[in-house]
Amino acid sequence: MELPFAESWKIKMIEPLKKSTREQREQWLKEAHNNVFMLKAEQVYIDCLTDSGTGAMSDRQWSAMMLGDESYAGATSFYKFQEVVQRLFGFKYVIPTHQGRAAENVLFSYLVKEGNVVPGNAHFDTTKGHIESRHAKAIDVTIDEAKDTQLEIPFKGNVSLEKLEKVLVENKGNVPFMVLTVTNNTVGGQPVSMKNIKETCELCHKYGVPVVMDSARFAENSYFIKTREEGYADKTIKEIAREMYSYVDAMTMSAKKDGLVNMGGFIATNREEWYEGAKLFCIPFEGFLTYGGLNGRDLNALAVGLDENTEFEMLETRIHQVQYLASKLDEYGIPYQRPVGGHALFIDADKVLCNVPKEEFPAQTLTCELYLEAGIRGCEIGYILADRDPVTRENRFGGLDLLRLCIARRVYTDNHMNVIAAALKNVYDRRNEITRGVAIEWEAPLMRHFTVKLRRLGK
Ligand SMILES: *Cc1c(COP(=O)(O)O)cnc(C)c1O
Repeated sequence: MELPFAESWKIKMIEPLKKSTREQREQWLKEAHNNVFMLKAEQVYIDCLTDSGTGAMSDRQWSAMMLGDESYAGATSFYKFQEVVQRLFGFKYVIPTHQGRAAENVLFSYLVKEGNVVPGNAHFDTTKGHIESRHAKAIDVTIDEAKDTQLEIPFKGNVSLEKLEKVLVENKGNVPFMVLTVTNNTVGGQPVSMKNIKETCELCHKYGVPVVMDSARFAENSYFIKTREEGYADKTIKEIAREMYSYVDAMTMSAKKDGLVNMGGFIATNREEWYEGAKLFCIPFEGFLTYGGLNGRDLNALAVGLDENTEFEMLETRIHQVQYLASKLDEYGIPYQRPVGGHALFIDADKVLCNVPKEEFPAQTLTCELYLEAGIRGCEIGYILADRDPVTRENRFGGLDLLRLCIARRVYTDNHMNVIAAALKNVYDRRNEITRGVAIEWEAPLMRHFTVKLRRLGK
């Protein structure tokens, strides 16, 4: 008999989970104004809000923490960290920052000027924010296929070379760089193929435009290249990552994802002038160049985390769990964005709560229902997140209305995945009885989803 799949690690330290009753959850959700961001974490049983900074560190990482060098300048921790980044990505210049958006802030302060155009395969919201706040424009050049939630293709995060070339031609001389995001978070953690990375970079370079890789989930992307793209099955994750970065000019990284740490980020490049330029912004925003907003112990943990998470077994265990949850949803017929990506499942709320009108926010309603059912916290990526049109002030109902369930790295077991799937099935089975959604009672003028106050209708 063939032995079944199992995790590539065992557990040495545990954190108890708290269960609750439906009655308690009804009360807590009401107190949180039906916004799961306002719940206390201890009111949550299984937390799928985000995979950012929520992973578990290894014994090697915790022991590296004890060796942290907290010297203000020139700490050994920095040099250990720098050595790993240089070896994994092939970049000479490395600047640590406190997280991914800080790396964007530092690099873009140097690179982005008013009126610039920055194409990308669906910029992450902070990336877009750091472009737009400098009065420049972010243009999405993701392939159209990414919009079809039921279409199964291996590299749904790819760049459309036609769309990209159009932007490069129309904005000649005004494109400081292109942002290539791996995996493509915004369209569901979908990977970008090596072929597409290479062709995208060749096209940009033909027009004299450098490429910055937004790298939060570069290791998961490497795993998908190894398992899905012809010619890469026999290469190691480290070899694949090294090839990916051989084509681009720089990287910004949120280490809270594939760096396997709770806080951290960095910039790396071979362009000396970019390094010199970014340095000037690192010092006032993040701190001296050898710590950039991080403790020495954080840098040590990150150095080990990057090395660990570029090993095949670690990634196989992770992706296997995400795919396991997806297979349970297939079994129950619950519609989600296909194929499942690297870090999360996106449930198509419009297709589940068909009786809840758009104006009553189906995905937010489903988020509340799942919490009430079993204390599981997901996150609405839908009409509330989409905010209002800045001119008409109307709600934007044009996009998708999804419930996102992020899977933290090395935190939950497959039994927890079974609980998530069963809770979703219970809600799904009574979907036709759910006819009313939520109404907004109060909202902030921008980024309203974090603090919005909602009322459940028909209750
Ligand atoms: C999380 C993320 C960021 C921002 O990083 P933070 O560490 O949250 O500041 C940028 N880009 C992508 C693709 C991300 O997933």
